[in-house]
Amino acid sequence: MRYFPLFADLRDRRVLVVGGGVVAERKTRLLLEAGAQVTVVAPEFGASLRMLAAEGRGEGFGMPLPAQTGEGRGEGRVVLREERFRPDHLDGVVLAVAATDDVEVNTGVAAAGRERNVLVNVVDVAELSSFIVPAIVDRSPLVIAISTGGVAPVLARHVRERIEALFDGSVGRLAGLLERWRARIKQQLPDVAARRRFYERLLRGRVADLVRVHDEPAAERELGYELTRRDLAQHGSVVLVGAGPGDAGLLTLNALRALQEADVVLHDRLVSQDVLGLARRDALKVAVGKSARDHSSVSQPRIHELMLEHAAAGRRVVRLKGGDPFIFGRGGEELEFLAAHGIPFEVVPGITAAVACGAYAGIPLTHREHAQSVRFVTAHCGESFDTLDWPALAQERQTVAFYMGVAGLERIRASLVAHGRSASTPVAIVENGSRQTQRVVLATLGELDEAGRTAQVGSPALVIVGEVAALATRLHWFGHAPIEWRRLSQAA
Ligand code: SAH
Repeated sequence: MRYFPLFADLRDRRVLVVGGGVVAERKTRLLLEAGAQVTVVAPEFGASLRMLAAEGRGEGFGMPLPAQTGEGRGEGRVVLREERFRPDHLDGVVLAVAATDDVEVNTGVAAAGRERNVLVNVVDVAELSSFIVPAIVDRSPLVIAISTGGVAPVLARHVRERIEALFDGSVGRLAGLLERWRARIKQQLPDVAARRRFYERLLRGRVADLVRVHDEPAAERELGYELTRRDLAQHGSVVLVGAGPGDAGLLTLNALRALQEADVVLHDRLVSQDVLGLARRDALKVAVGKSARDHSSVSQPRIHELMLEHAAAGRRVVRLKGGDPFIFGRGGEELEFLAAHGIPFEVVPGITAAVACGAYAGIPLTHREHAQSVRFVTAHCGESFDTLDWPALAQERQTVAFYMGVAGLERIRASLVAHGRSASTPVAIVENGSRQTQRVVLATLGELDEAGRTAQVGSPALVIVGEVAALATRLHWFGHAPIEWRRLSQAA
């Protein structure tokens, strides 16, 4: 981060503006709105600054001037000094703005500022500035500041326009309402997590709606009522969230919301950093995931215990799982446990690996010319392998997606062929589907394990068996082109 963002309290602080034209006038107005005592220095002043100064001495800016007091906004004062800039104009000021069209003067102000440790902004010249002024969306008391570090002002404006569209004027009024109630809310809900939940509910609920339609008295009543509902403060909950295969763009909006409201995120190791990065910044994040080889992994009963512990303490727990929580994710067991303990829960589905890998490898899983159905099968090693319905899996005109199958490539090949699926059936191994590191290996069923071994496919990977796999040669669009086993073996 090149610049440190901050909001400065300039009420009753002295600020210098150098320049006599319209840019100087615009900056002066903004500073006055923040309550600053502005001295404007220039050899001569344009009409707009003269008018501004006259206003300032008279009835203030936009609002009547509160006599003598230094509170609220709009009570800044302006003094014009018709003289050339001298370094000693900076004495006693906290900030200065150089807004002349004279490079020499601007450079002089910048240099004098550096010498005296006064922050200086030279309008539109980031190189000379020790502070820069962001584009703002003013919904006071909510103010949103946007900066590209002076690199792309047009982009900053573009972002501002979008934010302006996003937040109508009611957010400012809502923020004002919350400001008035803040002390009472804090007193009523001393627990930080409970208070956050209360606010979140408030912002999404009826109170916000009432403010939007300008019925502030009803909003106040509603807020008071909500605050007396004790049950809100006490109950934690668990949201079982599907994190998808890795690309954070594949999260649902509900998943994003749950992540941003979470007090605690219990996540599988399979969940990508990109997705975790979207969780509320100060949420507690605990890796509880299991991977086949990971001995440090947290046992399923311990995961249940953790969910219970946090939810019972009134926290919002997100149980974040790779892909979809109900597809080979043990989400069902976790919900049964929560239900048995009376913990409220929700489920947010995610994009499961087979769906994502199909899409990102260019393999339409049920292309009508090749397949009438698709099966999701888990091919965990061990005895679960033998209990699979191999005769059914070996049938033609279907696509079979094997989860957790990398270690069992040989057995997948042998069992399918033994039960009648042709050795020439196309197969794809999709490693790290949808991630930057995605690799797709294409082969025939008869060569499946050999191809996987030679390409050194690692976890996580998904095996897709069926004619549709061959379409990846033509329909791939993401990452590297698929590695075609025949070519690979010829090269070796
Ligand atoms: N609930 C998850 C699956 C958990 S089982 C889901 O719906 O996707 C874990 C297996 O999913 C892995 O062994 C692998 O076969 C598959 N998998 C998960 N993410 C993957 C990815 N990004 N690319 C390829 N396979 C993936």
